Amino acid sequence: METRITELKRRLAEVEDLKAASHLLTWDQATYMPPGGAAARARQVATLGAVVHERATDAGLGRLLDDLSAHTDALAPVDADLVRVARHDFERAVRVPDAYVRRFSAHVAHTYENWGKARDTADFAAVAPDVARTVDLSREYAAFFEGFAHPADALIDVEDPGVTVARLVPLFAALRKELVPLVQAITRRPAADDGFLTGDFPRRRQLSFGRKVVERFGYDFTCGREDLTRHPFTIAFGIGDVRITTRVRPEDPRDALFSTWHEAGHGLYEQGFDPALDGTPLAAGASSGLHESQSRLWENQVGRSRLFWEHFFPAFRKAFPVALERVDAEAVYRAVNKVVPSLIRTDADEVTYNLHVMLRFDLELALLDGRLQVADLPDAWNARMETDLGVVPRTDADGVLQDVHWYFGHVGGQFQGYALGNLYAAQLFAAARAHRPEIDEQMQRGRFGALRGWLRDHVWNHGRRRSAEAIVTAATGAPPSPGPFLDYLREKYGALYGLTG
Ligand code: ZN
Repeated sequence: METRITELKRRLAEVEDLKAASHLLTWDQATYMPPGGAAARARQVATLGAVVHERATDAGLGRLLDDLSAHTDALAPVDADLVRVARHDFERAVRVPDAYVRRFSAHVAHTYENWGKARDTADFAAVAPDVARTVDLSREYAAFFEGFAHPADALIDVEDPGVTVARLVPLFAALRKELVPLVQAITRRPAADDGFLTGDFPRRRQLSFGRKVVERFGYDFTCGREDLTRHPFTIAFGIGDVRITTRVRPEDPRDALFSTWHEAGHGLYEQGFDPALDGTPLAAGASSGLHESQSRLWENQVGRSRLFWEHFFPAFRKAFPVALERVDAEAVYRAVNKVVPSLIRTDADEVTYNLHVMLRFDLELALLDGRLQVADLPDAWNARMETDLGVVPRTDADGVLQDVHWYFGHVGGQFQGYALGNLYAAQLFAAARAHRPEIDEQMQRGRFGALRGWLRDHVWNHGRRRSAEAIVTAATGAPPSPGPFLDYLREKYGALYGLTG
């Protein structure tokens, strides 16, 4: 048994190393690569991807996993978890034929190209036939797996294992029922003033203030770094090298600051896995939703809190003395929590954000089960924007064409993680504060040791050893639900906007 588990770890480490090499090429592509490198880089990433797939679906690995799966009670608990997770990954990988993978990648590359053009001309019809094909290919993918009740379940399971349509539909319906009237009540109140956050905010100062804060969060720059990119992301090549990225708009510091804090949340999670898991598939986030909960927690529950700004306002004003000359911490707190029903998901505030996500989730389901035709997608989109947010895009560029997801991957399984992340974040943060009452007092002093320690013990350490749902349930004493998130919104925004009842 001992030699077989050693052999398993050797094989899995090889796959992880190849993936890390590929990630490094991707990181470079999104940060420093000169434009001329694009064609060769695409080929290199594809070559490594094929090698990874070959190693990850090797028949010898399958036999080893079958063998070990029959004897997990003789293994150390962490090794038993490794066998279970690796076998799950293996079985998923071998069910999808190589020919499908090649067909799908070619289709997606072509769709992505056409999407760029369609977006520039705000012409959804130009890319609609490609999307229709993506829907067919997404159904075909789902059919490779058995035991799922809805085609979306197979796609959701890739990102948020164990989460199903049957669970999400009532969960999201309950959330939406509360959010729509809350947004309407807020929009009837006078809007917060955020005009002073537009002006002259030197780039270097934005970056240095953002980094000062994430150092306080506990993001470890000896095991990571931050670079500039177009669309911020976090990427890891091992627990000891977890990199974040950001972008800067010199006229508005919010983009750089909140994206830095968001990505640092992802980074803290990846830096916080049990070091013993390094080089195995267990050193990864438990799900998209749980990963997003960590970024949203540091971005919102921390970075958009009053306690946070009470501490960091003097440093913020010191960095931008002219723009912030006439305001105080409370004004900044109000400005960074301004609620505006808007057209673009990535610009949305905490209250309206989930409405954007649930709209996409429901449309994915309708496309997959044939209730909605691709040609009717823009109308369905706009109608739902009207009912949920009271705003309608003038062109499809600000509507159905705004997100890359449906044009660069499957239709299905792509959006639920964002909403789950917000729910998990609120539930975890409430539990952390209940278990460690010193968290608030520390935050007010710009210290985060208690919060970090609680998250490390209850969330980060586990990596993929447990499901997201099991982690949230064990950490908070209750299964995931929208309750804590809604309580958080009602308390915070009720006070900010003077809502009663
Ligand atoms: Zn994120």
